Amino acid sequence: MGKLVIVGTLAFDAIETPFGKTDSILGGAATFIGLAASHFNIDAAAVSVVGGDFPQEYMDLLSSKNIDLSGVEIIKEGKTFFWKGRYHNDMNTRDTLVTELNTLADFNPTVPSEYKNAEFVMLGNLHPLIQSSVLDQMSETPKLVILDTMNFWIDNTYDDLLTVIKRVDVLTINDEEARQLTGEYSLVVAARKIHDMGPEYVVIKKGEHGALLFHNKHVFYAPALPLEEIFDPTGAGDTFAGGFAGYIAKTGDISFDNIKNAIIYGSALASFCVERFGTERMIHLERSEVHDRVMQFKQLTQFNIELT
Ligand code: AMP
Repeated sequence: MGKLVIVGTLAFDAIETPFGKTDSILGGAATFIGLAASHFNIDAAAVSVVGGDFPQEYMDLLSSKNIDLSGVEIIKEGKTFFWKGRYHNDMNTRDTLVTELNTLADFNPTVPSEYKNAEFVMLGNLHPLIQSSVLDQMSETPKLVILDTMNFWIDNTYDDLLTVIKRVDVLTINDEEARQLTGEYSLVVAARKIHDMGPEYVVIKKGEHGALLFHNKHVFYAPALPLEEIFDPTGAGDTFAGGFAGYIAKTGDISFDNIKNAIIYGSALASFCVERFGTERMIHLERSEVHDRVMQFKQLTQFNIELT
């Protein structure tokens, strides 16, 4: 089992969906990634920054999930990153209403010394220079580096993003962002262009339509489970990435076949995330529920066919 370094936001989120709205609740890429990865009982550390307004209760919650927080800087006089989003009726698309970087604006990440030799690094959605700085601090070349990003960073920090993408093995990105990053409508062509930017594996997330994995000439597709309850898709992409990274860190196997399994675990964990607002569902998730859902994925896609 390898150590996992997780970099990303710890945040306050305010969310509006067709089913209701929340005031500031616990959110952030590192939060969702950490909660998903903690399912695998691995040695994981979060690297992030918060303000003095970030409740101790949230820190305790993450610690109770075995996430090492020694790499989380607390700036007492500062404010925590805040994001507000509104989902459209299809629940697959959303508008960002507010992004307040706050303490994130001047964040200099520090990887805790006992994690500098981690084999796995999950660069969650964050400023690409922060993502690069974390890679610079690793004492040994990690076995697998995974990077997630979003439209905000593609719009505002394109060149820095291309520089860090060159250094990663797996890029996870949603379909619209893959188009935005490459200027290509076809996801197959977009994935090829992203390969050319550096990553050997490209995972394109398609929300309720599952995820595509591209590796050289191979393509693998994991559906999303048809769900009865969808309340809030916030964090589903990060939960997917956290499940993916956690599974890889647990198994230590970076073969194409095992990366396919990681996609299934990521999809299974993300399917829980959307069932309640924010982190609510992930906090109370039982191991047996995850196992049942992975088996549901298997049944959903398995068939015996005889060619006639
Ligand atoms: P997801 O729904 O998986 O794309 O991620 C939603 C999470 O990303 C929310 O909890 C937000 O706090 C966080 N987030 C939103 N915008 C940004 C941003 N520009 N940089 C980093 N994290 C963000």
